[in-house]
Amino acid sequence: MSRLRTLVVVLGDQLDLEAAAFDGFDPAQDAVWMAEVDEESTHVWSSKQRIALFLAAMRHFAQALQAAGRPLHYRRLDDPGNLGSLAAELQATLAKLAPQRVVMTAPGDWRVWQSLQAVVEGGGLALEIREDRHFFSTVREFAAHAKGRKSLRLEYFYRELRQRHDVLMHEGQPIGGQWNFDADNREAFGPEGPGPVPPRATFEPDALTREVMALVETRFAQHPGTLASFAWPVTRAQALHALHLFIEQRLPLFGRFEDAMWPGEPWLYHSQLSAALNLKLLTAREVVQAAEAAYRTGKVPLESAEGFIRQVLGWREFVRGIYWTQMPGYLERNALDARQDLPAWYWTGHTDMACLRDAIAQTLAHGYAHHIQRLMVTGLFALLLGVRPQQVHAWYLAVYVDAVEWVELPNTLGMSQYGDGGLLASKPYVATGRYIQRMGGPCAGCRYDPAQRTGDRACPYTTLYWDFLMRHEELLARNARMALQVKNVARLSPAEREAVAQRADAIRQGRVGKPA
Ligand SMILES: Cc1cc2nc3c(=O)[nH]c(=O)nc-3n(C[C@H](O)[C@H](O)[C@H](O)COP(=O)(O)OP(=O)(O)OC[C@H]3O[C@@H](n4cnc5c(N)ncnc54)[C@H](O)[C@@H]3O)c2cc1C
Ligand code: SF4
Repeated sequence: MSRLRTLVVVLGDQLDLEAAAFDGFDPAQDAVWMAEVDEESTHVWSSKQRIALFLAAMRHFAQALQAAGRPLHYRRLDDPGNLGSLAAELQATLAKLAPQRVVMTAPGDWRVWQSLQAVVEGGGLALEIREDRHFFSTVREFAAHAKGRKSLRLEYFYRELRQRHDVLMHEGQPIGGQWNFDADNREAFGPEGPGPVPPRATFEPDALTREVMALVETRFAQHPGTLASFAWPVTRAQALHALHLFIEQRLPLFGRFEDAMWPGEPWLYHSQLSAALNLKLLTAREVVQAAEAAYRTGKVPLESAEGFIRQVLGWREFVRGIYWTQMPGYLERNALDARQDLPAWYWTGHTDMACLRDAIAQTLAHGYAHHIQRLMVTGLFALLLGVRPQQVHAWYLAVYVDAVEWVELPNTLGMSQYGDGGLLASKPYVATGRYIQRMGGPCAGCRYDPAQRTGDRACPYTTLYWDFLMRHEELLARNARMALQVKNVARLSPAEREAVAQRADAIRQGRVGKPA
């Protein structure tokens, strides 16, 4: 038997038969390698939903590879002798198969890239990394855009990409005469709530997925969350169907209610496509094209199509560029010198703060929360409390089904925790409980009052907001976008400052915000 020519490494978030790693693939000479390993579910305390999604999608992709006639070496988590890490498993495979070369599509995680590269190089080969065509832009293009800029802003990069890829453009100008419809996209629901919302797109687990779910329930019994509601798309066909349902049912109102919340409504008008995108069951291009086509055929208003495209063509590409140009140092950044531990109840939702209880409960039930819940409920509380960004990062990476480090870390450490000191966001996203109330949070059913800063009923967000401004007054005074907020804090009397600081201490010590 002749020696294997190419071993194509496929990771759990690279489930695309058309990926660059397969260019030139010859089943007679080449083979694919995939491995399920404990380390990927335990390096952070991954939720059951997240583990089940990755494993179920990987096993379905293995079937697709076999159906496509591509020889596959697949290591299951429950295979006897599974070595527990990608590096150890790959090393053993290299020793057994002795391929002439090892190829993979660019991975989504610095740690994994480093460890696989070390193994391949240790075996006397070079790891050939190919461009991830799934994205519109390359890291090199982002680096060129970023060169010489003191701070990086989504808006400029987004406009460049709109022009370069001719998305929502007409004769070189943005359709509708403006790039941005954010001002139209900040509506909250009235007191009557959202009314009937389209049902979540659900995919009944098949036998293969149920097998994975049983494995997760036994092997990761102590991990956070539950699997009862598991219904994520795990194949490309399902992901395409989910995209179709989103475009038809949710996209028309996506823009208008992009920032809105409502108790008991986890999905609202959000696409729920992030996991399918990040696992590469869908490409960013087809998702953007579908949204643009819906606008051009008059199915959805411009502000919805643009609002959605801004997230995928804009934010998603932008944070990827930040991650790969800033790692590995980015992971350690802590510009506000935040040192508090993440409250233990982030893993259970056992708190008497209704908004946090709801957002965490839904996160544990589905592995999902929409952007405003992540940024302005769980993220905001951690920022105001002063939690070490690395602990906040470990939580977000663990609990969400769409969490892969290239997208999770810049969002968490940069956008939500201001840990990079303003590289990604022009100012810290801080607000009182009134913001949560205004956007539809469950304040009416909460024991706290978002309008109160001090006293027994003061909303912890509101207290901590003022405490945050006081603690970082000097630093924030240097930021023109924070001028108004800094001016307000300067007006507080010494007695008011003392009362805020005392209650903030009580919150930090866990004497306020106790289990419900
Ligand atoms: C603290 C924090 C952590 C986050 N962690 C992740 C993560 O691990 N993985 C992840 O995919 N997104 C993450 N996001 C971004 C965003 O919250 C999710 O992409 C979104 O909530 C997923 O739900 P959806 O598919 O219904 O999104 P929609 O609201 O329907 O948005 C459409 C798509 O746009 C993309 N998108 C939207 N916002 C962002 C963003 N800020 N950055 C990158 N892509 C974006 C996603 O692919 C999403 O599917 C995080 C945001 C915050 C504030
Ligand atoms: S009052 Fe404060 S803690 Fe309670 S739900 Fe509103 S914002 Fe959250």
